[in-house]
Amino acid sequence: MPSVGSGRPRRLSAAEATQDKMAMGPTVVVPPKHLMASSTLPSESIATTLEEARNHIDSLSSPSTPSTPPETSITDKYAFAFDIDGVLIRGGKPIPEAIEAMRVLNGQNEYGIKVPYIFVTNGGGKTEAERCTQLSQQLEMEVSPGQFICGHTPMREMAERYNTVLVVGGEGEKCRQVAEGYGFKDVVTPGDIIKDNQDTTPFRKLTPEEYKHSRARNFAEVKIEAIFVFADSRDWASDQQIILDLLMSKGGYLGTRSKNFDEGPPVFFSHNDVVWSTSHDLTRIGMGALRVSLEAMFKAVTGKELQTTAFGKPQIGTFEFATRLLQQWREDTHGITAPPETVYFVGDTPESDIRGTNEFDERAENSWYSILVRTGVYQEGTKPRFQPRATVDTVLDAVKHGIEREYQRRLRETLPQTGLLSQDNNVEP
Ligand SMILES: [Mg+2]
Repeated sequence: MPSVGSGRPRRLSAAEATQDKMAMGPTVVVPPKHLMASSTLPSESIATTLEEARNHIDSLSSPSTPSTPPETSITDKYAFAFDIDGVLIRGGKPIPEAIEAMRVLNGQNEYGIKVPYIFVTNGGGKTEAERCTQLSQQLEMEVSPGQFICGHTPMREMAERYNTVLVVGGEGEKCRQVAEGYGFKDVVTPGDIIKDNQDTTPFRKLTPEEYKHSRARNFAEVKIEAIFVFADSRDWASDQQIILDLLMSKGGYLGTRSKNFDEGPPVFFSHNDVVWSTSHDLTRIGMGALRVSLEAMFKAVTGKELQTTAFGKPQIGTFEFATRLLQQWREDTHGITAPPETVYFVGDTPESDIRGTNEFDERAENSWYSILVRTGVYQEGTKPRFQPRATVDTVLDAVKHGIEREYQRRLRETLPQTGLLSQDNNVEP
């Protein structure tokens, strides 16, 4: 919705930002004080100076309003969503420009504007809260679980559907804890199965630590109703053996074999990225590769096709989830209720980040704008299978690109009404 009204953006508190006033065309909404994070503007910033001047004029024109310290404005027009690996973090360390990019979004920019943002990663293997704590330290700012989705987050919604489930991947007992935290009632790990029958995996023996944590039970009596690959497998051979045993079983009972191999439980992956960006110079294989491998193995052993399901990007469901999260986050922290006109999605993997953003853009009511960075999976000189709206070097360039694009759009919307651009036919209204 293009804004109409005065040339200069007006400032409203969220409390007074009614539909009518919004329609008059503010580009910024200032939330109530208690919802605002502390301002981190550098004192020498031009934007700060402008804000101070503006506040001074405001205080003169309405003496009943106490003068307020300089503050940044929060935009309600657009938002950012970030992939993490290869964009902000690589090999456990922040990409150098990432910290600066976050500062720019938090108001340290020439326009003195704060932009809401969320994180949408296919990675996983620990709870959302743990990952946010880690990300906060890496990016030197606070990241809340309220602005974070990882590959397995949507699996939460399947906890009611199945009773006993096998959870694969991740370090130690982490993914069992995540699944139980999601409300899954009975969570089995490959370790439990090996503990019950160590002949299950001829080349893997449990370490004393694994043996201690694995739960003893009699799997002849346990019906496993679904398989969830939460995070990357630490032992492909043994994990695939166990998954294959279940897929070929009669109704999810280990030790049984179905005649037609069509009675096994469904298998879900938290994402489908075949490769990902780590500290190694070249990309490393990930969960999508395990999925390909498992499907090929099932076919080789049974002669049948295996149907599996993957969550994460580029699945539309993940972007719908991201839409809901962004809506909640903007409302809870910034008091913004209307959806953003544009969401800038910054990623490094054409097959998940760019593809998903582009496909979601076609069906979403608002605009989803894909930006590809060169710090991860995508390497310069190759032609990405899915074309982004923009390609930039780093996440900092991506942030600047989005903010600048929005600024130009606002200019085009407001300047013609002031008559300043009346002779400029190149600028569309
Ligand atoms: Mg990535």
